[in-house]
Amino acid sequence: MSPSQIIVLATPVFLALIAIEYAVGRARGHNTYRFNDAVNSIGLGMLSQVSAVFTRLLRIGIYTAVFSSVTLLPNSSFWTTPLGWLLALVFYDFCYYWLHRAGHRSAVFWAAHVVHHQSQDYNLSTALRQTSSGALFGWVFYLPMALAGVPPLVFGVVALVDLLYQYWIHTQQIGKLGWFDRVFASPSNHRVHHAVNDRYLDKNYGGILILWDRLFGSYAVEEDGERCVYGTRSPLNSWDPLWANAEVYSTLLQDSWHTRRWSDKLRVWLKPPGWRPADVAARFPRPDFDIQQATTYAPPMGRSVQLFAALQFATLLAGVGAFLWLTDGWPLWQSAVWLSVLVTTLWALGAVMQGRITIGEALMIECGALAMATSASGLIEWHRVFKPLTMVIAIAVVVRHWQRSRAGGLAVNGESRRLHEKSAGWQGTPAVAAAAQQPGYVWLLAALFGSLAGDVFLMFPGFFVPGLVAFLLAHLGYIALLRQDAPLFASPRAWLGVGVVALMVCAVLWTGGLPVDLRAPVAAYVLAIAAMAALAIGRAQVLGNTAARLVALGAACFMLSDTALAINRFVSPLPHSAVWVLGSYYAAQCLIVMGWLRGQGVRRS
Ligand SMILES: [Zn+2]
Ligand SMILES: [Zn+2]
Repeated sequence: MSPSQIIVLATPVFLALIAIEYAVGRARGHNTYRFNDAVNSIGLGMLSQVSAVFTRLLRIGIYTAVFSSVTLLPNSSFWTTPLGWLLALVFYDFCYYWLHRAGHRSAVFWAAHVVHHQSQDYNLSTALRQTSSGALFGWVFYLPMALAGVPPLVFGVVALVDLLYQYWIHTQQIGKLGWFDRVFASPSNHRVHHAVNDRYLDKNYGGILILWDRLFGSYAVEEDGERCVYGTRSPLNSWDPLWANAEVYSTLLQDSWHTRRWSDKLRVWLKPPGWRPADVAARFPRPDFDIQQATTYAPPMGRSVQLFAALQFATLLAGVGAFLWLTDGWPLWQSAVWLSVLVTTLWALGAVMQGRITIGEALMIECGALAMATSASGLIEWHRVFKPLTMVIAIAVVVRHWQRSRAGGLAVNGESRRLHEKSAGWQGTPAVAAAAQQPGYVWLLAALFGSLAGDVFLMFPGFFVPGLVAFLLAHLGYIALLRQDAPLFASPRAWLGVGVVALMVCAVLWTGGLPVDLRAPVAAYVLAIAAMAALAIGRAQVLGNTAARLVALGAACFMLSDTALAINRFVSPLPHSAVWVLGSYYAAQCLIVMGWLRGQGVRRS
């Protein structure tokens, strides 16, 4: 049984303990859970587990290689005796202490470990909140065990024991435990570890034994007069699981880029978190942390969003469980395809919870991902459901947006509202109502209906030409849509660039085996899609806002998708063609729909 499968079997236990902790908290009048935070934390745990399938080589591969080539005590049966197992666990815990300490005292390690600390709550769901990039450098700290000849199997088992032990200590419902708190990691001393208070910061790193902290001077006791404030000193303020993993790397990259001295470019990564080169700190100042000013991130969620999030969460649990259970029997590319579906869904769930996208948009994105994955995995019956369904949802999203904007009450909340405001000149309801008069919605719907027809035709052999015609009409619909707020030749440079690409595609198709009688319709098609891409890029330059840039990116994806489709069909079959053709196709449709809808109500600059 693989470690992934053990985690699947442990999940009902994790969830049952969470339910008990929640019930106890409610009964005591001290509930420590917020629904969105718990969903976000457990979602990050799911992401960590599914991505771990791809970092196994780093985590176990390097260890095994060192163990079998340069170990100092080879073939020792000692490690599989009872004393050997116990010693291996203590050895692992010792190495873990130093990895964890590095995780708090060196920026590049903090970039990986920060995910575990971002929650501003402290409960059992926080324990599941784990990094997805820990394997990048973490393996270095366990090499002493390989050198000492601890077999990989023993290493793997004690690693799992050490991790599972730490689950129960993430709770506020268990108080101090006397002598236990001074020997073992416990709820009280680990609460201190998760706190940002001055006297608690960077203390109590121990995984099972807290003795390491007392030995190496990093121990702190939870004081009755100093309540723990949980989280990090630069709050994430987002439910985006990808950003949660990337944020600190991104900050370090920026500081490292901006600083002038070469030594500082390196030092940024190695110094303790929060350290910044003097020149960067002067040019891009950041406010100092003030515990009095600390606020809790809590974007509002309506009832429908709560219900949607609960259903999505349950679906994700099932999906991640199935993935972890089956993935060992799959080729790597198939695991990667389903990983992308799970990651997309996790992202969409967070985006709905913080008001960046609507429920309909989330369903459209997820359905597109499923249409791609079912095709790539040969699940044709399911593919024939998800493929047309994606465009049906897209149409419903646009109709709903149109209805709302006509009613004058366009629900623009959270980040999409900020996007509108950032795009200069958010005009409120009157402008939105005026925008609804535009024929744009009609053209967008025409393009989506054309795409839906094209999708259905292309699902069945013998309907290639009708499919081509439907998509040609869809592209003309998109051109009419984008012409609403930008001239056709807004950017001669975009026309030139796209034209060169289109000519190259035609040359490859002509010389690569395109049937002669298809040359004319394919040429018309290439011209339409090139015009659409050039127009979208020019429009983005004219409007100069993020919404228009999303549409332009979508048009570029469309070009990519059609090129991959044509090359796959006429020149030579692409490996895993469904991934490239359909992946870029759904990215294109989603970006255009969401980008265009976000542009409504934004005054032209
Ligand atoms: Zn930590
Ligand atoms: Zn913890």
